[in-house]
Amino acid sequence: MWLLIITSLIVIWVASLCKMFHISSSSSTKPDFLSRGGVSDRRNVLLVVAHPDDESMFFSPTISYLIARGHNLHILCLSVGNADGLGNIRKEELYKACEVLKVPHQQVKVLDHQELQDGFGKAWSHSLVSEIIEEEILTNGINAIITFDNYGVSGHCNHRDVHHAVRKLLHDTSRRDIEAWELVSTSILRKYSGPVDIWISTLSSSQSSGGSAYCILNEQPRRSFRAMSKHSSQWVCSSLIKSGRERWKLTGSAI
Ligand SMILES: [Zn+2]
Repeated sequence: MWLLIITSLIVIWVASLCKMFHISSSSSTKPDFLSRGGVSDRRNVLLVVAHPDDESMFFSPTISYLIARGHNLHILCLSVGNADGLGNIRKEELYKACEVLKVPHQQVKVLDHQELQDGFGKAWSHSLVSEIIEEEILTNGINAIITFDNYGVSGHCNHRDVHHAVRKLLHDTSRRDIEAWELVSTSILRKYSGPVDIWISTLSSSQSSGGSAYCILNEQPRRSFRAMSKHSSQWVCSSLIKSGRERWKLTGSAI
């Protein structure tokens, strides 16, 4: 009985890995993520995160994907992550990780705002964050934003506030020229199911209408690991487990 269960699990695991490789190598009729189909369609993309390490832990597959396709990526980190008094160290770690991820230093901005300090229970003003993001949009000619969804992957309140601030920005300014994408949070069971989750992720993204959801596979897993290793001050158990794929949903025009 146990032998049968273990064999079945191995078969499912191997089939899931094969599925991932098949997706990587197959061509789809769907336009690429953040592409409208044109070869020269390079975008000015702003990734908005709350803390140093968010970019490596949650977004590195997407960063690699965008950099490989020539998009111009900017990263805005809204705090130095000073909850444990390590803000200065974490800020430097972010720059080193971005170097690994091939995001130019001058396109990475880390804030240390009095009202946007790292911590559970520290609510961030959606209006303030929204204003800061809008300034970045205007300064850098941003036409696409990527950030957390309303659960914020880990449920951290700072991640969730960033999401709500982006929504507020899009709602208040009616900026229809800006696309906004959110990283879809998954249940803990799916998060730690490894490649097996590929079946659910691809099914749900393929059923989306008009290219409003994508499943992005990690094309540079070693690079992701190296980027995360730069955040040595955060190397605790929760930081070691990384997702191999990311699922995106369009939020911009759906608000
Ligand atoms: Zn975070």
